[in-house]
Amino acid sequence: MRRPREAGRVVLARARGMVTYPAPFQLVATSKPCPCTAPSACTCTAPAQRRYQARLAGLGTRPAISLQLTAPGRDACAVGESSAQAAVRVARARTIAADRLRGDGYRVNADLPLTTLTGRHGLPRRTVAGLTRMVDTGAIGLTGYAGILQTAWTIGDLRGTERPDQDAIDTAIAFYLPGTAQPVPARPGQDEPRPA
Ligand SMILES: [Zn+2]
Repeated sequence: MRRPREAGRVVLARARGMVTYPAPFQLVATSKPCPCTAPSACTCTAPAQRRYQARLAGLGTRPAISLQLTAPGRDACAVGESSAQAAVRVARARTIAADRLRGDGYRVNADLPLTTLTGRHGLPRRTVAGLTRMVDTGAIGLTGYAGILQTAWTIGDLRGTERPDQDAIDTAIAFYLPGTAQPVPARPGQDEPRPA
């Protein structure tokens, strides 16, 4: 799945030749942390948990945004940002991105290849110093590096900043590394980063 996801097209080889189909998509997946149905009273062995989580490797790529969700508590019904309000924020951010990228032939930040993320739309060295160090030490690969930069640009667009700052990069890193980010409860009028 990795190749179609990165290239936005799928190539099928058949006896009569090759066929190419467009395949731009956004992959959204959810899973329990382990195979049992009682995560709070888990009885799974460590190997069983590893085998279960290894099945996610079938996706062929680590998601750019991972969130660990907890069971909704009593405050789940508290009035927060409505879906309609979130949609307005997302639409505004997508317009900002589309305007910026039009000249490059891209629509959304997720379309940006690494060469553009580090070239024409490269960020100041100081801003990406920590992220670059993660690549140098092998903590993340180049695919992760590109994914984090794409997410950081989207966070910047949601916040209305000209380009992602250090905090946007740090937030994108937390989204990328599973288990480190918690969903942010948005309040009306407050521009918190949300997956877009
Ligand atoms: Zn379990």
